[in-house]
Amino acid sequence: MKIKLSEDKYMNITKLKVQRVIFYVLSITMAAVVCTQSIPSGRAAISKLDSKLQDIYFDKRNVMVYVGDTFEEKPISVPKNTKVSYTWELLDDGILTVDNGSIVAVNEGETTVGVSAGDFYAEIDVSVKYKPLPPNSSLPPVYYENLMIANYRNQLPSDYVPEDLIQIPAEYVAANYSTLYVGKETFDKYKELLRAMQSDLGTNNMHILSAYRSYARQSELYNNAVQGYIAQGKSSTEARALALNTTQTPGNSEHQLGTTIDVSNDYNTDHNFNQTPEGAWLAENAHKYGFIIRYPADKEELTRIEYEPWHIRYVGIYHATYMYVNNVCLEEYIDLQGEAAEAANAYAETHPASYD
Ligand SMILES: [Zn+2]
Repeated sequence: MKIKLSEDKYMNITKLKVQRVIFYVLSITMAAVVCTQSIPSGRAAISKLDSKLQDIYFDKRNVMVYVGDTFEEKPISVPKNTKVSYTWELLDDGILTVDNGSIVAVNEGETTVGVSAGDFYAEIDVSVKYKPLPPNSSLPPVYYENLMIANYRNQLPSDYVPEDLIQIPAEYVAANYSTLYVGKETFDKYKELLRAMQSDLGTNNMHILSAYRSYARQSELYNNAVQGYIAQGKSSTEARALALNTTQTPGNSEHQLGTTIDVSNDYNTDHNFNQTPEGAWLAENAHKYGFIIRYPADKEELTRIEYEPWHIRYVGIYHATYMYVNNVCLEEYIDLQGEAAEAANAYAETHPASYD
């Protein structure tokens, strides 16, 4: 993978004998000019400053960042007050990636970042790690950083209510829908996501169909589904089994967490949402704002929920980015004992995949 490499830059790299040809390159013009001397205005002045450059270097050999962090280390120029246009060079190893002109850590590992300016080159080793869990903790990581799970095998208590619920302003909710609630952090990030989507696509037709659902509300949805099948002449056992195909039992819906939002651009939830501009944008970009497509098409055997391109779940940017880059669903991500697949298979023997 290579990011637009102009001929000039290619020449520079060849000249610099950069061995690793799979570097990809990102230009960042650093506008900082220090004002300790009076700088004459105009082009001539700038090229005069450029020509003064004698070297660039990093003041350390290596740096450690966490997955989700932005890499911010900048080289030092000699002389220090020179205006320099830097070209960054990353290895195509999936550890660091480029997002909006910034270098973002997306995967654990060791890598090298190179930077060139004119005839000068410097590099720094970068080590990327996951943020450590709080010390002396006996809880597994599933309880931290918004990774709490509610699914067919992890039932939330009936009195579980998220602490930071807020009412969603009506302008974000589908017209004529009742008042909806969601966790504050989740909503703040959703607003950021929405602004970015609107600016990229130039559209303004996304709305929320569902967000937080209380245990009582989920009971009501499930019981309504059961009653519907009983009204069609099914026995109560049959009706309960059929209701499970489309609805979660109370405590087993992720919507009780307050970190989940169902969105739509046409008031429907359907599988083709991912083929609309909004759905496609969401699939490619949601992780940048900390959201995952919680029930991907190719993970139905593990989630036991049908593909839902409209159902996004907030987990925080570094977990979301990891899951996106590595194509793992939440069940796989928190599956420290490797038993998620086994449990899902056992459940699948008696239950078809459902919806949430
Ligand atoms: Zn949903």
